[in-house]
Amino acid sequence: AVVVGRRVRSRRKWNKVASVVRELEEGCDTSVGRLRQVVDAMAVEMHAGLASEGGSKLKMLLTFVDNLPNGTERGTYYALHLGGTNFRVLRLQLSGQPSPNLEHDVEVERQPIPEDVMTSTTEDLFNFIASSLKDFIAKEPDGSNISQDRRELGFTFSFPVKQMSVSSGILIKWTKGFSIRDSVGRDVAACLQEALTRKGLDVRVAALVNDTVGTLAVGHYHDPDTVAAIIIGTGTNACYLERIDAIIKCQGLLMTSGRMVVNMEWGNFWSSHLPRTVYDIDLDAESPNPNDQGFEKMISGMYLGDIVRRVILKMSLESDVFGPISPKLSMPFILRTPLMAAMHEDDSPDLREVARILNDIFEIPDVPLKARKIVVKVCDVVTRRAARLAAAGIVGILKKIGRDGSGGITGGRSRNDMKMRRTVVAIEGGLYSKYSLFREYLREAVKEILGQDIAKHVILKILSLTTAALMTLPLSIFVRNIGR
Ligand code: BGC
Ligand code: MG
Repeated sequence: AVVVGRRVRSRRKWNKVASVVRELEEGCDTSVGRLRQVVDAMAVEMHAGLASEGGSKLKMLLTFVDNLPNGTERGTYYALHLGGTNFRVLRLQLSGQPSPNLEHDVEVERQPIPEDVMTSTTEDLFNFIASSLKDFIAKEPDGSNISQDRRELGFTFSFPVKQMSVSSGILIKWTKGFSIRDSVGRDVAACLQEALTRKGLDVRVAALVNDTVGTLAVGHYHDPDTVAAIIIGTGTNACYLERIDAIIKCQGLLMTSGRMVVNMEWGNFWSSHLPRTVYDIDLDAESPNPNDQGFEKMISGMYLGDIVRRVILKMSLESDVFGPISPKLSMPFILRTPLMAAMHEDDSPDLREVARILNDIFEIPDVPLKARKIVVKVCDVVTRRAARLAAAGIVGILKKIGRDGSGGITGGRSRNDMKMRRTVVAIEGGLYSKYSLFREYLREAVKEILGQDIAKHVILKILSLTTAALMTLPLSIFVRNIGR
């Protein structure tokens, strides 16, 4: 009787865990039908955001960038990149000939952003940035052919900014764990300029752009069929080239090319069609920016690990398959997404890596194999949903610009002469470039939504990490183009 009782109890606890996983799977449904609804919602919101200021949760921000580099640029360029996790200083020499290996022509210095800087004051933040640039310039070899003229600098700032011009713009809000209250509403280019002057640097901030825009520029430099750029890293966002007459809210603005890059800020996209679970609701409520960046919180690297942590905590509360409840399971953001990916991609037969990480991070020793498998499954569900939603977002953009093969929306041409043109989407960011299962799921979903015949014209180009570091460099090139 005792043995039978134990067996029943054991079956019960595994059943409980299984039902948590089943509910998670149902909640994370991304059937192709649902993805198509997300595609449509994205295209609709894009229209709304372009029609009027505040017309949609999608801000569809103007960038004032109408020319993208094409390889004929020449000169020395400096750039600063403030991302979600890293900060970079770059210098690049361009010869006027397209360089197939831009990476070799660039000098990069990268450093993690100190955590206290992310939550300090505007002055501290920009002093940190200006000091890094000062050190970088101080290391330039004497007698090198670097021009001693006043240096011009491009600033890639990976947060939502309402631009007044290509070289000025006001911070709308922080995302990705940054919270420096006194910066919101201020011109970040001017803040940087002041800090540079304080440090005695003769450098002019000549361009201010979002990281998506820098990525689109690099993509376009290498391949002129590039129409959009996506970041899938700590945060997520997209930008694309739009016809000026489709940007209703900026009527009257003249751009020479008749086009402008639009920074969508898709991290803030929302639709009732998004598959949302109780874990997402709790994560949002406990985040520093509740009701904000809803799409980003389901997709990007800052959050995926934490969704998984929440599911493991739930399973641990429901049954003892993970032993006694570890207090570490209640610590927000303790499971970073790279470690979650390492568990997901553990290919050892006994899932040794999963066990090691559960022990290291949550202090849960000796997790049985069956429970390790469940953890892998949870990672899979969460990542698959993220990747497929990002795919739907991408197809939404293609639909808006008439590159989804449907010939509708912007077309005007008849279906017959609507040949699907080669369409390149540049994708950058650690989550995408370092997580191969994420990439596979995203690519697979694009194919599923578009169908093989259309999808074969859509090229998702991954920008390598080195190339990614270059994303800032064409900024000053824009300025050249615009200044000409
Ligand atoms: C920001 C965007 C940025 C993206 C990727 C988001 O949190 O709002 O401006 O492009 O992260 O870095
Ligand atoms: Mg980044």
